[in-house]
Parts: sequence; C-alpha cells; structure tokens
Amino acid sequence: MTKTHDAIIIGTGQAGPFLAERLAGAGMKVAIIERKLFGGTCINTGCTPTKAMVASAHAAHMVRRAADFGVVNNGPVSVDMKLVKSRKDAISGKSRTGVENLLRGMANCTVYQGHARFESAKDVSVGSERLTADRIFINVGGRAVLPQMPGIEEMSGIEGVPHLNNSSIMDIDFLPRHLVIIGGGYVGLEFAQMYRRFGSEVTIIETGSYLARHEDEDVSTAIREILEHEGIKVRVNATCIGFSRRGEEILAHVDCVSGDPEVSGSHVLLAVGRRPNTDDLGLTEAGVAVDKRGYIVVDDQLQTSVPGIWALGDCNGKGAFTHTAFNDSEIVGANLLDNDSRKVSDRITAYALYIDPPLGRAGLTEAEVRKSGRRALIGRRPMTKVGRAVEKGETQGFMKIIVDAQTHEILGAAILGTGGDEAIHSILDVMYARAPYTVIQRAVHIHPTVSELIPTMLGELQPLSAAAGASQ
Ligand SMILES: Cc1cc2nc3c(=O)[nH]c(=O)nc-3n(C[C@H](O)[C@H](O)[C@H](O)COP(=O)(O)OP(=O)(O)OC[C@H]3O[C@@H](n4cnc5c(N)ncnc54)[C@H](O)[C@@H]3O)c2cc1C
Repeated sequence: MTKTHDAIIIGTGQAGPFLAERLAGAGMKVAIIERKLFGGTCINTGCTPTKAMVASAHAAHMVRRAADFGVVNNGPVSVDMKLVKSRKDAISGKSRTGVENLLRGMANCTVYQGHARFESAKDVSVGSERLTADRIFINVGGRAVLPQMPGIEEMSGIEGVPHLNNSSIMDIDFLPRHLVIIGGGYVGLEFAQMYRRFGSEVTIIETGSYLARHEDEDVSTAIREILEHEGIKVRVNATCIGFSRRGEEILAHVDCVSGDPEVSGSHVLLAVGRRPNTDDLGLTEAGVAVDKRGYIVVDDQLQTSVPGIWALGDCNGKGAFTHTAFNDSEIVGANLLDNDSRKVSDRITAYALYIDPPLGRAGLTEAEVRKSGRRALIGRRPMTKVGRAVEKGETQGFMKIIVDAQTHEILGAAILGTGGDEAIHSILDVMYARAPYTVIQRAVHIHPTVSELIPTMLGELQPLSAAAGASQ
C-alpha cells in the first residue's frame, strides 16, 4: 500500500534533517529516508571525524614542540592510534545518534531506513515500501571517486592493489608506515599532515602543478612549504599514475617531469575528488535532469527540472561543504514557508582548509579578480608581523585582502595562518553587509588577536595592477 506524505526527504545529510524540522514544524506530514548512517558524510566520514583527528595530530605536534615553549618533555612522543580512533568514533557517534534521535522524536516526521529510488516524479520506493508526496527533496550527497588508474581495480585478471578512501581510512586503528596520498586537494592535504604528525612517512602525489589548485599560487606555495617543513614529500605534475606490488610494498608509478619514477609505500589513500550519489536514484523515471558529471540541475532556488522536486547539498553541484548544504535547506525553507525569496546566488564563497595553520577563504581569489580586469586594491601581511602569531610561536603563512578600487567593497580574502579559519569571518560578515572596507578600519578589535591586524593590512592597500601578484 502506498503511504502518502506532504513531503519526502531523501538523505539525512546536512540539509535533510533541518528541512524536516522546518516542514514538520509547519504541520506537514514528512517522510525522511536514510540508507546508511544518519548525519551523512560530514558527521560520519567527513568534517567531524577528520577535525577530531586533526586535533589529535595537533596535540602530538605540540608535544614534540614543547621545548620551543620552555616545557620539558624528555620522553619520545608516541601516538596510540586505537585511542585516536576511539576518540574520533565517540565524537562522530554522538553526533550521529543526535541526528537519529532528533528525527525519530520529531512530531509529524516518519523515518524510513533503506535505499530510496524514484518510481515516478511523485513516487519513491524504499525496499518493499512505496511512498508518495507532492514535494520531494533530494539530499543524497556524494562519495569518493574511484579513479581509472592502472593497478587500482582488478584488471585483466591481475588483482588490484588495496587502497583507502576518506571513508575506509576512518576504520583503521594502526599507523601506516608510509602513506602515499593520490591527490593534493583539501581532503588529501588534511590527511597528509595528520598522518605525518601521527608518525607516518607521507608522500602526496598530485597531477597538477600545484597543491590546492583552486587557490592562488602564493597560497599554494606557502601550503606546500608548511607541509614540506614537516617532512611530507610532495610530487606534482605526476602523469600516468599506476600501481603495482613488490612484496609487502605498494609501488605508485609516477611518470613525473623530475624525480624518481616510482614511490614505494605501505598504504595508498585515494583523494582525487567526489561524485554525486545520483546514479542509483531512479532520476530518469522521475524525469529529473542531471549534468554530464551527474549533478542534479537546479535553479537559483534549488528546484530541479521537475516541478515539486528540489535538490539540496553536494548532489546539486552548487557547493561542496556542510555550510552550503545547510544554507540550501535555509533557502528552500525560506521560499516555501516564509515567503522570503532567498537564493543560492546570494551566497559568498567561503571555506577553510584544516591543515595547521589553517586557511580561511572568502570571496574571489586574487587570480579571479585579476582575470576579471576590474580595478582593485590589495593588502598583504605575513603572519610574522601578527603579534598573536608570534606569541603563540605559530608564524607560518600570511593574509591578504582585495577590495574594489571604486566601491571599496571587499572582493576576497585569504588568511593562511593561526586562527585563519575563525578570523576570516570578520571579513566575510562585512562582505555580506556589502559595507566598504573602511568599516573594519573604524571597528575596535580585541588585542591580541589575528583579526586586529586586518585593519592594518587595509591601511597599506596598493593597486592590484602594480602589485607583484599571484596567479593560478
Ligand atoms: C574527508 C572530508 C572532510 C570534509 N571536511 C569538511 C569540512 O571541514 N567542512 C565542510 O564544510 N565540509 C567538509 N566536507 C564536505 C561535507 O562533508 C559535505 O559537503 C557535506 O556532508 C554534504 O552534505 P549533504 O547533505 O549534501 O550530503 P551527505 O552528508 O553526503 O549526506 C547524504 C546522505 O544521503 C544518504 N543517501 C544517499 N543516497 C541515498 C538513497 N538513494 N536513499 C537513501 N539515502 C541516501 C547517504 O547515506 C547520506 O547519509 C568534507 C568531506 C570529506 C569527504
């Protein structure tokens, strides 16, 4: 028998549960479906567990640096990976249970467990159950890409080499002797520094010429220096990556422009990107259009090509972060329930890279502003000239800000340095207010902080056209 609801939500990631709360709170009869772990990627295999592990790695790093601060620690530093994992599991588990309990305890909301599939534009099956609703919200997220690299999958009867991805690496409770990471993007870089600090040898292999290739060249270069300073080996411009085994060792064949043609390691982590979970959803039966990479095509208010079906979070390709997925649910909720026409294009790009020190980013990169040809001003400051960083003994990195020469609105900023993930918000909020940068200069900031040096940087603006600059 088909069960009728006012709304069906597929997926309990970073958009689904909040939207369920809003719709059910407005009196709608809501069904929410989850096929695996409540809370989705962020809570189970993404943000939460990685940042918990980054914290363990930071603790190990600071113990090793104890003498820099006059703290005596004569013993060797060792990391108990079983304890690191159980701490991480406890933090993730608490969040997962929190989401599940929230949904199961929610009035007007029914939880279904199983794989959801469209049977038509208004009908969804979950195992043997059939649900129908006039409004369906897709929040199915994504998964790690399995790259087409020789040796990775079983090929011509030869067994492929074992490999990890961001999900399976969460299950290991031992220290890889030498972790070879394929991919120098955000996910790869966080795991690289973390495992190096736990005690592994780490090599990053990247096909592009830069790490974190969406960043400006100066930011990317500084990131590479930070990682190499800790003993991480970096191979860029890698071509024809393939794998084979030599005894217990895994060989990554790297036809690089320079350097050894192969890297030998004990474990391989594939971090080459993510793809949306839209290939097994029955979207064709529903008539929902996807682009050539499988992302669901949506308009500025997240409606798909089929009236009555919306797509939120990573699966719509409009963002790849928890905060963008959550914002998607706010946009849909505001449009449906508040008569408030919020839209995706109101959003300013913002994110952090959680290496240590972190990178906080807002708005356009310097390269993007240069490419746009608009008249702009730029200010920079190395972290060696930030009192708080000096006091903390964490002076790696720099900050920069770019403003429109005419309107004085802030176009973009990067803070690669201690506290950069937090300090960037003082810039982001002014950008949302569309206020001129001079507002920041008149504000009295707290001393000593990283944020208090942002006005100083603004006091030394120079024309972008005259500044030796980053490109990428
Ligand atoms: C290693 C790593 C670290 C990250 N760190 C950060 C970070 O620090 N900050 C940040 O902002 N972002 C981070 N992200 C990205 C962030 O995790 C995602 O952007 C976010 O989880 C996207 O949320 P979502 O709601 O779109 O989908 P997801 O969280 O992926 O949730 C989708 C849910 O849908 C379920 N589902 C899928 N298909 C079906 C189906 N057919 N039927 C039923 N259920 C289904 C899945 O099981 C899943 O629970 C990280 C990602 C990774 C991989």
